[in-house]
Amino acid sequence: MVLRSVPYDDVYFSVQGGLAEKRHVFLSGNQLPARWQGRDDFVIAEAGFGTGLNFLVTLQSFLATTKKTQRLHYLSFEKHPLGAADIRAALSLWRDDIGPEIDALCAQYHMIVPGAHRLIFAGRVHLTLLIGDINDLLPQIDAPVDAWYLDGFNPAKNPAMWSDTVFAAMKDLSATGATAATYSAARVVKDGLARAEFVPAKQPGFGYKSDMLTAQRDGPGRKSLVTKRCQRVTIHGAGLAGATLARTLVDDGHAVTVVAPHGIADAASGNPRGLYNPRLTKTLTPLAFGHASGFAALYRFMKSGDIDAAHAETGALHLIRGDDLRDRFTGMAENWGWGDSAQIIDAATASDIAGIPIHHETLWLPRSGSVSPHALCHHYLSDLNVVSAAGKASPSDIQVLACGAAVTMWEVAAHLPLQTVRGQVSFMAQSPQSQNLKTNLCYGGYLSAAHDGGHVLGSTFQHWLTDTAVRDDDHRYVLDRLGDHVGPILTMADVCGGRAALRVTTPDRAPVIGRVVDTPFYVSTAHGSHGLISTTLAARLIADMIADLPQVFPRDLRDAVDPSRFSKQTKR
Ligand code: SAM
Repeated sequence: MVLRSVPYDDVYFSVQGGLAEKRHVFLSGNQLPARWQGRDDFVIAEAGFGTGLNFLVTLQSFLATTKKTQRLHYLSFEKHPLGAADIRAALSLWRDDIGPEIDALCAQYHMIVPGAHRLIFAGRVHLTLLIGDINDLLPQIDAPVDAWYLDGFNPAKNPAMWSDTVFAAMKDLSATGATAATYSAARVVKDGLARAEFVPAKQPGFGYKSDMLTAQRDGPGRKSLVTKRCQRVTIHGAGLAGATLARTLVDDGHAVTVVAPHGIADAASGNPRGLYNPRLTKTLTPLAFGHASGFAALYRFMKSGDIDAAHAETGALHLIRGDDLRDRFTGMAENWGWGDSAQIIDAATASDIAGIPIHHETLWLPRSGSVSPHALCHHYLSDLNVVSAAGKASPSDIQVLACGAAVTMWEVAAHLPLQTVRGQVSFMAQSPQSQNLKTNLCYGGYLSAAHDGGHVLGSTFQHWLTDTAVRDDDHRYVLDRLGDHVGPILTMADVCGGRAALRVTTPDRAPVIGRVVDTPFYVSTAHGSHGLISTTLAARLIADMIADLPQVFPRDLRDAVDPSRFSKQTKR
């Protein structure tokens, strides 16, 4: 099958040339595998992931020609991601050659939506898919690139991919000695490469093609990537923020101690059921890009195997209860690029999906669901070193403060303007009216799908209260919200328990994720009521910072969550 793009009127790859052509243009064109020999870390950036064929031939070659200690960081930009089924079909021709590589890609290729997604192969090939327009994303990352694969469609058909912005970012990001290769020998490409301070050279093309371009960076560029391996990290806190980060760091090869004076998931992460939904915004703001990335990473993790965390992929219906929400939710469905993972549906369709009558038009997120945050924390920490008190840290040891509002007990974080918001959830027995509920309902409050004979009904938002005693008034409050928006399908008689805890937020409602400047301290807190997603994002962000991995999350996002956005004067 020849995969052809309708909007760009061009093919993804030439079937005649096959894999040999890919290897000729992109690998040989960048003097690979020779140039990654002896390098602990090597960075490739690709314009146009497409079917992933370039990546797969590179993956195969890298694993066959390098030592187990060497790592490849492959950053690939893609504006119109294909689905896994399309990729499988398009690559079926090459199964004899790269069958296991195709399977390994497709096994992880879920929720590839606008965002930054890290897929890891054989523990040492890090594919980061940067989904969005390369013109927006390339200038926002930080990584010294050794080799460029320029594989956009033909410049005559897709000039936007070969823009001044892209060539200027190439100039900024290239490492000393960087190379580039492309099929195209067009004038705009040659000139662009020259502006990016590369020296382009026409080379013989593959087979019947007359020529192609390779290019070599002229003069010094960025220092080559040297990642930090096996760092010693102490994490304070064993809720979702601490546990997710601990697991990510250990998987990356670091030595982690988790300090949990009150045990695992004792506070806001201790609920037996938590819904995961991104914070819904009309446009894909930098923070929403982060939420989408965190959502997708959590979803992929849940799909990756038997995670003992009571995962239920029920989907979520977000009821449209007024014009403001209609504007926001339809905007989200149109602007986030989630395709069939975010749809506006009418009340009748919503009722069919829910299994109970729904009286509103809704935003339907079929990949959303719920897990037990409590079980997930235990799962992440199951074979890790969790202690009840901190040992003596040497001044160079990395410390991560991931203990909710208590991070302000450390002087480096004392100025953070954290606020707590009490949240009580009610544990409900199923009623005859609720027992058919197949999906999660969100309406300001939320009701989880029927599970193990019960539901979780949430939640209060009480910034003026700091106690965690369970209150009957709060059960009544969440039941009233349910009654208002869904109907009286549960009553006080169905309440069989509850749990209250304090969430942590900031005045700008964004989490605090990042390094405290000029210190060995990092902070991960203020994940509010989106902890499952926000802490998944935070873990990747902080793990990348600690190891000096390529910073692939857009700078605007990193700035929006950075602890330094609060100066010492902003403490409230
Ligand atoms: N490297 C791919 C492979 O091995 O299958 C083939 C890439 S195909 C020739 C070009 C890709 O560039 C398409 O997947 C297209 O969607 C993507 N693309 C086009 N314009 C883009 C843009 N402005 N930003 C990011 N990707 C873009």
